Amino acid sequence: MMRQFELVDRVKRYLPEADEDLLNRAYVYAMKAHGTQKRASGDPYFSHPLEVAAILTDLRVDDQTIAAAILHDTIEDTGTTREDIAHRFGENIADLVDGLTKLKKLDLVSKKAAQAENLRKLLLAVAADARVLLVKLADRLHNMRTLHFVPPDKRARIAEETLEIYAPLAGRIGMQDMRDELEDICFRVLMPDAHMMMTQRLTALRERVGGLIEDIETALRARLAASHIKGEVKGREKRVYSIWRKMERKSISFEQLSDIFGFRVIVGSVEDCYRALGIIHQEWPFVPGRFKDYISTPKQNDYRSLHTTVVGPRHQRVELQIRTRKMDEIAEFGIAAHAAYKEGPADGEVPPSSNAYSWLRKTIELLAEGDNPEEFLEHTKLELFQDQVFCFTPKGLLIALPRGANPIDFAYAVHTDVGNNAVGCRINGRNSPLISELHNGDEVEILTSEGQVPPAAWESMVVTGKARASIRRATREAVRKQFVGLGRRIVERAFVRAGKAFSEEKLVAALPRLARQTLDDVLTAVGRGEMYSGDVVKAVFPDFREESTKAGTAESGKGWFGVQGAEKLKFKVPGQEKQGASIPIRGLSDDLPVRFAPNGGAVPGDRIVGILTPGEGITIYPIQSPALMAYDEEPWRWLDVRWDVDEHDPRRFGAQLRLSMINEPGSLAEITRTIADTDANIANIAMRTKTADFHETVIDIEVWDLKHLNAIMSELRAKPMVANIERVIE
Ligand code: MN
Repeated sequence: MMRQFELVDRVKRYLPEADEDLLNRAYVYAMKAHGTQKRASGDPYFSHPLEVAAILTDLRVDDQTIAAAILHDTIEDTGTTREDIAHRFGENIADLVDGLTKLKKLDLVSKKAAQAENLRKLLLAVAADARVLLVKLADRLHNMRTLHFVPPDKRARIAEETLEIYAPLAGRIGMQDMRDELEDICFRVLMPDAHMMMTQRLTALRERVGGLIEDIETALRARLAASHIKGEVKGREKRVYSIWRKMERKSISFEQLSDIFGFRVIVGSVEDCYRALGIIHQEWPFVPGRFKDYISTPKQNDYRSLHTTVVGPRHQRVELQIRTRKMDEIAEFGIAAHAAYKEGPADGEVPPSSNAYSWLRKTIELLAEGDNPEEFLEHTKLELFQDQVFCFTPKGLLIALPRGANPIDFAYAVHTDVGNNAVGCRINGRNSPLISELHNGDEVEILTSEGQVPPAAWESMVVTGKARASIRRATREAVRKQFVGLGRRIVERAFVRAGKAFSEEKLVAALPRLARQTLDDVLTAVGRGEMYSGDVVKAVFPDFREESTKAGTAESGKGWFGVQGAEKLKFKVPGQEKQGASIPIRGLSDDLPVRFAPNGGAVPGDRIVGILTPGEGITIYPIQSPALMAYDEEPWRWLDVRWDVDEHDPRRFGAQLRLSMINEPGSLAEITRTIADTDANIANIAMRTKTADFHETVIDIEVWDLKHLNAIMSELRAKPMVANIERVIE
């Protein structure tokens, strides 16, 4: 166990002005508080907070954070209170310890929603002070290092949580080493066989290449020295988990040295980075497509470096990272390397505003807007795991987005208003659909029009949480306004019918009788069909007697105006077995009405698209429908939708067939019998004589799906009196 003076020494080595007294007092206080408590390993409990503090000294955090780390489990596990810590160590440290205590209570919850909530709390706590996150990560790292002492049944759950949340988080804020170590431990716990296999192959490969690493280091050093560049060269073995992930992702085997070893060249200045790169490329042929300049375009977590791969000594591919000392520190320690939590870095080697912080800020903004924790987890996980694409505004502002993002995401990343008012876009000068996937380097110009409401269906097309949350908020607000407007019309009409004068004041006075808080609440309820307008009149004029009208919600609109709750997504397919069931289609959200194209509709199995009509709704067409040509010039109206049929609750869908038949007695009877035999319903038959010999028949049938429809068509085609048969799609 690290002793008191050792801890103080470690801190003083990088922070000479550290408050020695503070560290000593925290040490003694925590030691006494934890007393004889033991960890699962049998070690005194106090060894844990000390190890956490030691990890943090490697990250060179300030003395307050170290003190908080020593104290981090006292409130949770001992009789200590927040007040006591505040009294002895000040409000700052008390806040840090308190934040960590709250996070700890949320640890080890395996249920998904609970885990999401956990992450949300974690980030909110970080919002108050990013140092909480650093201590939390160090705490998790030490717990993972000692995970083998924990009962086996708990290990997997902890490892999963770590792999899903903490490791990506560490990576996201630039603490690459911590991420690597966390991932490797999780890998070992969750996939022991794969871990063993990787380790063995690594050992074998290492033996095979012998002194090659040293040879390459020597060759690199010699080239730099010959060009008078002062620098350091380090060979470094990659982590098994990152090799494994790469193998999995690209389904490749690892045989090349470059898969396993990376070399790092650390030089004195940005200029030397580029000079060193030039020298290396002159000496050894570089592998095309592998060069990346993260110095001019840093990663979102502030990572900066030049990356290249060359065919080096002994014809081995060699992966190189070239960067300055400062960049190297940031690559290893992330936000911790920005050392000054109060004042930003000022040496020009680091971007003026820390992207790690700005990411956290954005995430926190999103938290304030989000409503469903599970959804939040999903998006955050998505964003944490995905690579980035970098796009530019026409003015050259860099917008970093997760891979798979589209111009709608881009628009919301620029500003919520830009997103809400977006009507189209130009990518690299060309008019493009708003749902095009963006690529690195795209210049994106968003075309806007004032006073738009984003279509609710956008929500399912964006990948960034910010866009999703904003769309949801804007559509919810728009729908609410529609309900209020609709409710107002219904209520006003009800007063007219009752021969009473409508006044807002009187209605407000009657709110308690209606058990609602505000006028808008009442109007919304009426608009949604949850409250009967006659009851509103009665609440205002209690002596009013209604005649005979039992209107109910019948007046709350229908058809295209069906945004109301009662009508919402309920659409009658002609003759369908269960009327009023919702449309079984994914990719839509429930704020816009949906209908099938009126004639020759789609059946499950058809590829379908939705066409958006702003302010009205979405119409579903089969992809081969000629009607779609009308929308060719308006790609933004095209929505990617999918069937989502409930197998346990099958329904029939309407389709239309056109048959050309020989004019002979009994032919129509034969056709209808065949259709009935195949378990399809006939909804309508229209016949017309074409020539003396043939007549044409259009039959509306109801089928389960495309397979069913095709089977019927081939049955009919085989009939001798059928000359031709085709499906009608309009
Ligand atoms: Mn702890």
